[in-house]
Amino acid sequence: MLDAAAKIDSVGAAAARVEISTIKFVVANVLQRVLDRAIQVHGGLGVTDDTLLAFWWRHERGARIYDGADEVHKDVVARHVLRQYGFDARNRQ
Ligand SMILES: Cc1cc2nc3c(=O)[nH]c(=O)nc-3n(C[C@H](O)[C@H](O)[C@H](O)COP(=O)(O)OP(=O)(O)OC[C@H]3O[C@@H](n4cnc5c(N)ncnc54)[C@H](O)[C@@H]3O)c2cc1C
Repeated sequence: MLDAAAKIDSVGAAAARVEISTIKFVVANVLQRVLDRAIQVHGGLGVTDDTLLAFWWRHERGARIYDGADEVHKDVVARHVLRQYGFDARNRQ
């Protein structure tokens, strides 16, 4: 994230598109995994509204969608990587 921030500052957001997409889907998935594990540790209590965990899980599940679905960001990264090997994903048949 620090590298991406430095790149955005020095050469602009367009040049850091791959880093930005990677951060968006990795962080959203880590957040979901951490919340899921916290719920599991709390057992049945974790899925009630007696703790904030169930609320956070419901609320933050959207993180894998609302700033662009995971698949869309992975597509950005994949296109960039494939382009380095001379493959243009837009022209695939
Ligand atoms: C809580 C919340 C807040 C939001 N806030 C904002 C906001 O402030 N500003 C704003 O502009 N929008 C906002 N949105 C909208 C958000 O940007 C869209 O929900 C998001 O871009 C996904 O679009 P969609 O919901 O139409 O899903 P769709 O585009 O219909 O996608 C549905 C599913 O299809 C799959 N999919 C879609 N495209 C591809 C692809 N290219 N390759 C592979 N699989 C794909 C994914 O699994 C995806 O989850 C918000 C959404 C939510 C839920």
